[in-house]
Amino acid sequence: MGPDLDRRSACTPEVPSFAGALARVLDRGGSSAIGDAHALIRCGDDELPALLAAAGSLRDRHKGRHVTYSRKVFLPITNLCRDRCSYCTFRKDPDDPGAWTMQRDEIREWLDRGRVQGCKEALMCLGDSPEAAFPSYRTTLARIGHRSTVDYVYEACEMALAAGLLPHTNAGVLSSEEMQRLRPVNVSLGLMLESASPRLCARGMPHHHAPDKEPTRRLAMISEAGRLRIPFTTGILLGIGETPEERVDALFAIADLHRAHGHIQEVIVQNFRAKDGIPMADTPEPTAGDMARAIAVARLVLGGDMNLQAPPNLNPDDHRLLLRAGINDWGGISPVTRDYVNPEAAWPRIAELAETCRTEGFTLGERLAIYPEYTRPDFLDPTLTAPVDRLGSRIVQEDAHAVAAH
Ligand code: SF4
Repeated sequence: MGPDLDRRSACTPEVPSFAGALARVLDRGGSSAIGDAHALIRCGDDELPALLAAAGSLRDRHKGRHVTYSRKVFLPITNLCRDRCSYCTFRKDPDDPGAWTMQRDEIREWLDRGRVQGCKEALMCLGDSPEAAFPSYRTTLARIGHRSTVDYVYEACEMALAAGLLPHTNAGVLSSEEMQRLRPVNVSLGLMLESASPRLCARGMPHHHAPDKEPTRRLAMISEAGRLRIPFTTGILLGIGETPEERVDALFAIADLHRAHGHIQEVIVQNFRAKDGIPMADTPEPTAGDMARAIAVARLVLGGDMNLQAPPNLNPDDHRLLLRAGINDWGGISPVTRDYVNPEAAWPRIAELAETCRTEGFTLGERLAIYPEYTRPDFLDPTLTAPVDRLGSRIVQEDAHAVAAH
C-alpha cells in the first residue's frame, strides 16, 4: 500500500498552489495529501505535462513499461434494473423493447464462442436488484428454476468455469451473503463506486432515481468484500455532475478501503459518454484533459502499486495520452461481444493497441480477471486455483508463441 493519506491539508483554508502540491508529492516519492490532490486536479494546461510526468514516472517505477488487458466475453445476464441512472442505456423495464434475460443456451453458446476466440474472462454484468422491482422477472427466474438473480449468476459462473473461462461478476450492490455465495465461483467481483458524493443523488441529479447509487451503500459493499477477502475491481465515473474535487474525494475513499483490507485489485477511471435517448444526452462529455488529470491524480493518490485502468473503447483517440497519464491496464477487451453498457463504442483491435503501446515505449500483454498479486490462498478460493493456474500457463504459452512467430 503506497499512499500516505494525510488529510490534514483538507482543513487548510487556502488552496495549495500546483507547484507546491506537486513538489510535496515528489518529495514523498509519489503520494498525495487530499488538499494537494485537489490542487493537482485543477491544474492548468501549461501545468499538465508536469503532472503527467510525475504520475507516469511513479507508474514506471512500480509497474515498468508493461500494460495489460483481459480477453473477455461480456454476458449481460439480465438488463432489467430497478435503478434509473440518467446516463444509462443498458437498463430496461420488463415491457421495454430490448428487455432481455439470457437463457441457458444463449449463455452456453456465448461462452463457447469466447473460448474459441481465446477469451479467458467471463464478465457477468447485469442490472441492480431486478427481482426487487419486477414481479414478471421473478416469474422468469422461477421458470428458469431459480429464486434469485444471484442463484442464476452462480449457475452461469459454473457454466463459465466448465467452459474453461474465469468468471468476474458485476451485479450491482450485493449483500455479504450474496458475495459469500459467489466467491467460490468468481476470481474477482466488481462494483464501480462512481462517486462518493451524495450530492449526485439529489433531485435533478443523475442518481436521484437510483437507490443503489447511494455512496454509503456502495462503500459498505466494497468494504465487506475486503472483509471477505475478495479481489475487487472498482472505480470512478467522470462527467456525471461531480466536481474535480469530488473525483479526488472518491479516489481517497477507495484508497481508504484498500488501506483497510488490501483487496482493491484495480481502479477504473471511466468517462461518461453521451448517447441519444438518455436524460443526459446533451450533457458535455469529459475532455481528454479531464481524463488525463483524473488518471494522473489517481496514480498519485493510489500509489505506484495500484493497477490503474481506463477503457480504450471510450477514449479511442487518446490512448497515448492515457498511457502518459499513468495507467497500466486497458481492462477487458472482447473479440466476441460488444460493450453492452456503451454499445456504440467498438473495442479496439488488439494488434493496433499493441502497436500504439509499442510506439509509446510499452509492451502489451494479456492478464487474467484476477491479478497475479491476488492468486494467493487468502484471496482465491481453493476450487479456483487449478483453473487460474491453467489459464495463466496458457497466457505464458501464447506469449511465447507470439514472440517466436514475430
Ligand atoms: S448504470 Fe447500472 S444501476 Fe444505473 S440504471 Fe444502468 S444498469 Fe442500473
